[in-house]
Order: sequence, then C-alpha cells, then structure tokens
Amino acid sequence: MASSRYQPERRCVGCGTRRPQAELIRFHIRKSEDEALRVVPDAPGERLGRGAYLCPRLACLELAFRRRGFQRAFRAAVEWDENELRGALKNRPEDNEQRQVD
Ligand SMILES: [Zn+2]
Repeated sequence: MASSRYQPERRCVGCGTRRPQAELIRFHIRKSEDEALRVVPDAPGERLGRGAYLCPRLACLELAFRRRGFQRAFRAAVEWDENELRGALKNRPEDNEQRQVD
C-alpha cells in the first residue's frame, strides 16, 4: 500500500470510478473533542492520515452520502456536515469542467 507511483489512481467513494489522484478531492478524518470521527476536506497542501477520494462533482458527493462511501473508505463510523462537504466542492472553480457522468 505504501508504494508511491507516478500519478497513482484512486477510486471515488461516490461513483466508484478510478481516476488519477490529482483529479480527485481528498478528505480525511479529524477526531473532534467528543471523540467523534468527522470527515473534513483536505486544506491545500494538507494530507493527513487515511484519505478518501471523490470526483469534484456534487453528484458523487451525494452518492457517497447515500452509499455510506465515507464509512467504507475510512472503515469507521464517521460523521460529517453535508453542507461543509458540499462547500468544499463549490470552492473549486475548475470543477465546472468535470461534467462526465458514469
Ligand atoms: Zn465519482
């Protein structure tokens, strides 16, 4: 698992498509004060702990919510703020190019 290749691929936790890691949005989990595991988007340059990857599309985020993709990716009972994660997608202006559907 630790092998580092040039442009590794990752699977979107929403639609399941494999893409180059650079095209995906990365999320990690942060433990809150009450020990809850919370899914948060990576800040620029920040890569903490285990990651979950998502196509930069709201449709994939909604799929991840419904299919419990984050729980599977992190193998834990994680929680999240849907609006916060949606906001992480909206803050990426280049995402308008990503209109591909499965
Ligand atoms: Zn996707």
